Amino acid sequence: MKKRRRSEAELFLEPYGFVWGTHFNTELEARTLAGTVKLELSRQEKMRAAEEGFIKLEDRDSCLAKCRGWDGESETCDCLGYRTSWELSGSWKHGEAAVHQVARR
Ligand SMILES: [Zn+2]
Repeated sequence: MKKRRRSEAELFLEPYGFVWGTHFNTELEARTLAGTVKLELSRQEKMRAAEEGFIKLEDRDSCLAKCRGWDGESETCDCLGYRTSWELSGSWKHGEAAVHQVARR
């Protein structure tokens, strides 16, 4: 039997315990899962680097002056000015966790 050539996404996932046939069955599923893993790794790195547990927001127009930023878990920033969530900016290969923020006031 000819051995299937493994894709970059599949090789990326292997060290994290995700394998073909169990966690994904197509190249598209492999890339989607690789994106999820990449986002999680980058998110953890950014939370470790966050000052006093808060991520600084890029846009603060809707924040109160006392806002400390986002704790990386809540649905809003500290002052409730923005609805916040993580998103993968870029591809599963070169992407990073970015804050998605939508003004609430
Ligand atoms: Zn705020």
